[in-house]
Amino acid sequence: MDFTLTPEQTAFRNRVRGWLAANIPAEWHERHNKGGDIPRPEAYEFLRGWQRKMYDAGLVGLTWPKEAGGQGLTFMEELILAEEMAVAKAPSVLNVLAIGMAGPTIIAYGTDEQKRRYPPKMLSCEEIWCQGYSEPNSGSDLASLQTRAVKDGDHYVVNGQKVWTSLAHVADYMMLLARTDPEAPKHKGITYFLLDMKSPGVTVKPLTQLTGDAEFNEVYFDNVRVPASQILGGVNNGWQVGLTTLMYERLALGFGVQSRMRVALDALVELARATKKNGVVATQDPSIRQKLAQLWIDTEVFKYTGARAITKLLKGELPGPEASTGKMMWVEGHQRLQELAMEIQGPFAQLSRGSEWAVQGGQWQHTFLRSRANSIEGGTTEIQRNIIGERVLGLPKG
Ligand SMILES: Cc1cc2nc3c(=O)[nH]c(=O)nc-3n(C[C@H](O)[C@H](O)[C@H](O)COP(=O)(O)OP(=O)(O)OC[C@H]3O[C@@H](n4cnc5c(N)ncnc54)[C@H](O)[C@@H]3O)c2cc1C
Repeated sequence: MDFTLTPEQTAFRNRVRGWLAANIPAEWHERHNKGGDIPRPEAYEFLRGWQRKMYDAGLVGLTWPKEAGGQGLTFMEELILAEEMAVAKAPSVLNVLAIGMAGPTIIAYGTDEQKRRYPPKMLSCEEIWCQGYSEPNSGSDLASLQTRAVKDGDHYVVNGQKVWTSLAHVADYMMLLARTDPEAPKHKGITYFLLDMKSPGVTVKPLTQLTGDAEFNEVYFDNVRVPASQILGGVNNGWQVGLTTLMYERLALGFGVQSRMRVALDALVELARATKKNGVVATQDPSIRQKLAQLWIDTEVFKYTGARAITKLLKGELPGPEASTGKMMWVEGHQRLQELAMEIQGPFAQLSRGSEWAVQGGQWQHTFLRSRANSIEGGTTEIQRNIIGERVLGLPKG
């Protein structure tokens, strides 16, 4: 990959840098430095406003076509934006599932009406999207999903349950996978619906995570009527459409995490410099030094592996199964980094947000606990290993 920026890309980077410096609300940094403890409903409103502001500045949907409300730029600009946002510690956009997954899938499979109707409101954050794939008995083996959609005139009637549905409690629409032909082989009887979350019969119940936040939910469908015009990509073609969404999820998950890892590592080194262990500064402890150095090496390797994936995108190719290596590197590296933050704090690691003695307002405790989900969300580590084994290395199916 050529890391040299063109004059246009340099100008873009400078514009982004200047815009972020002028527009990130001071309130965000103040709260973030004290542990980022913004009550959830307030945080969602804040992030909705923040995304709208970024959209108005032309900084959302960089790679989307202009007719869908995007900027028609390349993944290089997307990478520059991700890096600048990480370095500036900018708030993330709220509507991540729409921008990373639902939007690109609608652009690929939607009718003209669907392509005109949905993408612009995703970018401006007027309509938030969630992903209704996982069910109590279908996660890694997604094709076994049981939520049913039965045809009734020009509607489908949906019954069943989803779980772990991130953002469902604030979402306007869901990417819903439901079984429309129970007689067909399991991959062939599934349809992809664009479900209005305000439809009668949809019940959302938030689930509280280890961190104390309630980011995801159970969603129940009780005779929910969905117009047939809300099908994306054809009846019983949901597996193919759904996989396209997952491919974009892999891409979105991989994007910008290299710079987030670097920012987290810099913060960790600062923490080590500010902490005494056994009477000496933690950076003078040989065991801590070794672990920090290994994380630095891994972060560099991760950066160049990410660059290889981006080169592929710039050549117009789609991310292949080897993208799973990026997810693995992120998960293993990030979880190890968070564990080291706990080790450096020693007994203080037991104090979290709310304790006046908590180190840096308990931020590390929150990110440590949140990082446990990294090896589950977006496909578990075992599933990524299976993908690498079977589809990259050509090993026999387990
Ligand atoms: C923070 C977070 C957010 C999420 N958000 C969403 C969302 O918005 N929408 C959504 O639909 N889902 C979401 N999920 C769900 C996520 O996609 C699933 O949890 C994940 O796919 C695993 O499915 P499962 O929980 O049913 O575990 P299972 O599939 O039951 O797996 C249990 C264990 O068995 C292992 N295992 C399973 N099959 C194999 C195999 N073939 N070989 C080896 N090991 C195997 C797994 O690795 C795991 O360790 C989210 C999850 C998390 C943690």
